[in-house]
Amino acid sequence: MAVEVYLSQEKIKTRVKEVAEQINKDFSGKELHIIGVLNGAFMFTADLVRHLDVPVTLEFMSASSYGDGTTSSGKLTINLDIKKDIKDKHVLVIEDIVDTGLTLSVLKKNLLERSPASLKLASFLYKPARLEHPVDIDYLCFEIEDHFVIGYGLDYAGRYRELPYVGIYCED
Ligand code: 5GP
Repeated sequence: MAVEVYLSQEKIKTRVKEVAEQINKDFSGKELHIIGVLNGAFMFTADLVRHLDVPVTLEFMSASSYGDGTTSSGKLTINLDIKKDIKDKHVLVIEDIVDTGLTLSVLKKNLLERSPASLKLASFLYKPARLEHPVDIDYLCFEIEDHFVIGYGLDYAGRYRELPYVGIYCED
């Protein structure tokens, strides 16, 4: 198997810092509760928060989604939930990639039912070619073409999450 570098470590570093600066501006004077979505967003979450200068609390959540075949909303299975009551809190959800958009759209619906003061979404990657469930991404690092990517938190069969860059997985 070969991995072709798609987004270099340097490119990622620069862009993550820019996105963090935007978040700092937008949340100036506020406190932020961050929810990193496991497993894929662990690296992006860790890098992003290092550049934040607003007060943050942080938890991780793990959820899987699947379409129920009759509605476009899908169902959400929460494997690991947050413990904090987010009512009246400013919440930022951090995802690895928006592909069909199903996971983030059902997760957003679930979290909005808990009445946060605000709910913003950040995603490291977005693949517009695959989108089926439109969801507004408030903070995005990179829009990418329709490739299956690995690295920087993203896996192929559980592997390659540790790569510090994003690569395209090529079977050979
Ligand atoms: P959704 O289709 O619900 O937007 O994405 C669900 C999940 O599929 C993502 O959070 C991510 O874990 C996984 N996924 C989607 N596209 C890719 C990809 O190109 N590479 C990898 N490794 N995972 C992906």
